[in-house]
Amino acid sequence: MLQLNKVVTFYGGIQALKGIDVSVEKGEIVTLIGSNGAGKSTTLKSISGLTKVKTGNIMYNGTEITNKPAHETTLLGIAHVPEGRRIFPRLTVKENLLMGAFSVKSKQVIEERMEQAFQYFPKLKDRLDQKGGTMSGGEQQMLAIARALMMKPDLLMLDEPSMGLAPMVVEQIFDIIKELNQGGITILLVEQNAYQALQIANRGYVIQTGEIKLKGNGHDLLTNEEVREAYLA
Ligand code: ATP
Repeated sequence: MLQLNKVVTFYGGIQALKGIDVSVEKGEIVTLIGSNGAGKSTTLKSISGLTKVKTGNIMYNGTEITNKPAHETTLLGIAHVPEGRRIFPRLTVKENLLMGAFSVKSKQVIEERMEQAFQYFPKLKDRLDQKGGTMSGGEQQMLAIARALMMKPDLLMLDEPSMGLAPMVVEQIFDIIKELNQGGITILLVEQNAYQALQIANRGYVIQTGEIKLKGNGHDLLTNEEVREAYLA
């Protein structure tokens, strides 16, 4: 479904990605783990078109999407929920969801998609008029994911969805990620919470200073000595 081939990305003079190869097959949950500044967010931004790729290419369902702008990758079925959630704090839950469906004209389709999102996030249905910024961190994360679902994505990319959340809420978020995957959405998950990410992932990549250091299935990485020492301590 998605292939990154030798992707190199710079921020000015800083080389954030040094030629990475990552692939995601339809139906999988794939996770990218690694420490702060390793290049995980940059990988997602390079895919969705928020950051310019210098060399290498990115293929999505057989089409080259390298350096396509974010609104185009969204229309192709790639949703990106950035780090720090970035919901619109002054807009209500409903308005936030409507922003997610920016290209959908039909009111009926929008209503249907909202109902589908509420199946995963029933709490949001009771909070439609609440301002996004007044919700808890976990609720904001749920809103950010629900907003991404409004475009009916095939590939959902989540950047550190567990960041800053209480353990119980983290559990809920990971359960929902599994449910979304069972509902047919392919997931590319960036996490510092390597233990939980690898538990739900089919496969994972360990990224270190812009390079893929290790890759394997979730279970193998969980039991890998190097991974255990560096990321699961
Ligand atoms: P984190 O979890 O801390 O975000 P990460 O693995 O997602 O870590 P990236 O955010 O992709 O890492 O950062 C990779 C490298 O690129 C780091 O050295 C970082 O300082 C640098 N970088 C990221 N964004 C920018 C930017 N907008 N301008 C300049 N350098 C940047």
